[in-house]
Formats: sequence, C-alpha cells, structure tokens
Amino acid sequence: MFKGFTRFLQRPGERLKTLLGSQEGPGESASPRIIAREDHPVSRKLFSDAALKVLYRLHNAGFDAYLVGGCIRDSLLGRVPKDFDVATDATPEQIRDLFRNSRIIGRRFRIVHVRFGREVIEVTTFRGRPGDDHGEHIAHQSEQGLLLRDNVWGSIGEDALRRDFTVNALYYNIADFSIHDWANGVHDIESRTLRLIGDPETRYREDPVRMLRAIRFAAKLDFRFDPKTEAPLRDMAPLLLQIPPARLFDEALKLFLAGHAVDTFHALREYGLFAMLFPEADEAMAQLPWAEPLIEQALANTDARIREERPVTPAFLFAAMLWPGVTQRMAALQNEGMPAIPALQAASQQAVTRQLQHISIPKRFSLPMRDIWDLQQRLPKRRGARALQTRDHPRFRAAYDFLLLREQAGEIEPGLGQWWTAFQQADEHEQHRLLAKAGSEAPGNSGRKRRPRKRNRRPSSTSGQRD
Ligand code: ATP
Ligand code: MG
Repeated sequence: MFKGFTRFLQRPGERLKTLLGSQEGPGESASPRIIAREDHPVSRKLFSDAALKVLYRLHNAGFDAYLVGGCIRDSLLGRVPKDFDVATDATPEQIRDLFRNSRIIGRRFRIVHVRFGREVIEVTTFRGRPGDDHGEHIAHQSEQGLLLRDNVWGSIGEDALRRDFTVNALYYNIADFSIHDWANGVHDIESRTLRLIGDPETRYREDPVRMLRAIRFAAKLDFRFDPKTEAPLRDMAPLLLQIPPARLFDEALKLFLAGHAVDTFHALREYGLFAMLFPEADEAMAQLPWAEPLIEQALANTDARIREERPVTPAFLFAAMLWPGVTQRMAALQNEGMPAIPALQAASQQAVTRQLQHISIPKRFSLPMRDIWDLQQRLPKRRGARALQTRDHPRFRAAYDFLLLREQAGEIEPGLGQWWTAFQQADEHEQHRLLAKAGSEAPGNSGRKRRPRKRNRRPSSTSGQRD
C-alpha cells in the first residue's frame, strides 16, 4: 500500500545530520529531512475538511501551517487519524482573529480551538526553548524541573524538539504537501520504536504525564520502547503525584478508552504507574484475589465495546477501579457494627474522597458510579415489586453488567446474574414465575447471611425510593 514510502525508507546512503552527534542511532536533527509528496503516502484525502480549511486559511494569510503529531504518525502507519493538530507561526491572537469559530484555551499551554460543528481543530503556536525570553510570553519551571507554563514562542525547529516522541515530531506542510521529519521519526515509525526526544529524565521531569503518554502510545501503536525511554519510568513514576487531578482525569480517559485498556493496564502496573493513579485499587489487588480479574475484565469489556463501536461510560470504568477498595472499607465498617447500607454509603464516600486526590472525577460520572454501587445492594432483593423497581432504575443496565463482572471475577457466587438475565428476557408470565421463585429461594444475597430485619417493611406501593 505504501510502496513509494517504503522505497523512500529504503533509499540507500541517506543519513541524517544529528544534533546530538550520537553514533548509536537516530537523534534529533537541526534541520529537517524533507520528504516530498511523491515520496510519502500521506494524502489530503485522509484529512478532514475542517483540518484542511484551517491549514489553507492560515497559509493564505501568509502564515506557516502544518499538520503535526498523531494525525501524521497514524497516517504513516496506515491508520485513520483520530483528530487533527495544527502547528503554525501565527500567535494565538492572530489565529483567533482569522477564525470566528475559535477561542484561546489553557493557561499552562495556550492553544486555540477552532470549532466546526462537533469537530475541534487544535491550533498551536510554535514553542521555543523555555529559557529564551521572547517578550511577554513566558515559560515557568518549578525547582524540580516541572514545566508549569510553556508559552514561549519559537521557530518550527525549536517547536519540534519540544514535542514528546520522535514519531510525534513529523510535520505535514500544506504549502507543498511535504513531510518535515525533525527527529528521525520516520525511522522510528518503520522500526516501531517509541523514543522520547532529548534526555528522557529531563523530559519526564518537565512533564511527568509523558510517562503515561509513553504507555498509551506503546499500547495503541504496538511499539516497543527505546531502552533509554523505558529505563527511568519506574523510578520516576512518583512524579505523577505532582500533576493536577483534573489533568489526570483527562489522561485516564485517554488511557482506558482508546481500545487498548487491558494492555495499557498491564504496562501501567509493570512500571509502577498504576499505583500513582489508583492507589487504593493497587493495594486492594494485593489483598483480594478477585480484584485484579474484576478490573481486567471491566477493561476487556470496555475494549470489546469500543471495537464494536458501542458506547462506553467512564462511570462504569471508575466503578470497577474503585470497587475493591470500597468493599474493603465497607467490610471494616461492618466489622465495627455498622449495617450494610450505611456502610456502603460511608465506604463509597471515603473511597471517592481518597481517589479525588489523584484523579478528579466529575459529578456527571461519580454520581452514576455510586448508583452502580448502590444497586449492587438492591439487585439481590427481588420480592414484591422490588425487582421491577430495580429493573426500571436508569442505571439498571450498568449495575447488571457490574454484577456479572463481580460474579465472573469470583467476588460473589454466580446465580443472581443469571436470574436477572432470565428476568429481562422473560415475558410477563415467566417473570411472575421467576419472582415467585426468587421469593422462595432468595439466592445470591451477596454471599452474606441474611440478618433478621428489625424494621417493618414498607408497603411496596410507597417504596419508590432506595432501601
Ligand atoms: P492522539 O491524538 O492520537 O492521542 P497525539 O500524538 O496527536 O495522539 P495529542 O495529545 O493530540 O497527541 O498531542 C498532539 C501533539 O502535541 C503530540 O503529537 C506531540 O507532538 C505534542 N504533545 C502533546 N502532549 C505533549 C507533551 N505532554 N509533551 C510534549 N509534547 C506533547
Ligand atoms: Mg492528536
């Protein structure tokens, strides 16, 4: 398919001028290798109309305009680009003036979002070296080397070397459709190598999220790590604790909702990064035999749904990640004599509070997550009208899937899930039979003994709320 491209890659005798003068392999170049249109397979047909519009308008206004990052990397790999990032020498204000449908966002890293219906094109001004003072725009670094702001404008060459991985420093020039390769990214694409640009320790220190990006790209692209990119990961993992929880929420979604969640999860654990994101889940996995299978299965289900283009909700994912910790806390509270229902409420609250110190979970996801947990206590109770009320709960489907997961992982005895499967498929007559059976057997009560109830049961007609 990429005959021309392969020919280009195999063209003998071509070597890059390397900035670092390294003998061992590819490094970053002071000037790019320019790959002419006829020597690469990346066609404008792969790009969205919106991306092309942005490129042409910048170009026609006299600015440089390039597509950069994932869209070029993925196109070269024969994948359909997911989104389009534009890099230009226009400042954010100049970009905003060119596009009515745009706004400047971000403080740490100011960029412009240009909106076309549901599609957003991210337009970024070339970044310079943080030490250089280019006037009003500043870069700011903490004593530990963390880049707190990165808004110094620079040349395209400087911009390229500020990017994270070599394969992400490929620029497609709308002026002549050539690709500019600043860091030998094409070579690394061909050898499927993920390599940070520059000194890995410095680059991770500047932005520890690059460690998560490394894991994400390696899993998504099925690339191996360059050894120097891999080596510092384990030791530097705790730097992730410096990252604001809101940013880690965004990263967590990219990690687990990209269709490679299981591989990503294993790699995160291997390098000690998972514990920085979900510390309680990490601890629980060492203590509860079912915790790891539960999380793994939740991630496998997520991957399968993404493959089938079915919707996935972060609420379900977070419900699974936090559940082992919730059950541990709940058991501790029950041991102190707290009844099951308030114990679950309190345990949920505590687990969420701890998690929020690492990854913020917006209410629109944390509320459904807690509904999924609450319903785990309602699913076993099927007498009278209860089964029908539970079935009609807006979060029933997610809670039922979660119950199946718990059974599969071996947290609870199987049986209840099957009953609910049958109940949902049954006609009215069959449902009555199942309800009667449930009333007489009361199986699957979370594996716990029923305690005699002290309160009188409310009549079912008024028990519209949770019990
Ligand atoms: P995808 O969009 O497929 O997840 P991407 O490579 O396009 O992958 P984005 O997050 O969209 O990733 O970022 C666009 C580009 O911006 C990257 O390719 C990279 O060049 C640069 N970039 C993004 N985040 C960082 C970072 N933390 N440090 C350095 N460069 C970054
Ligand atoms: Mg992108």
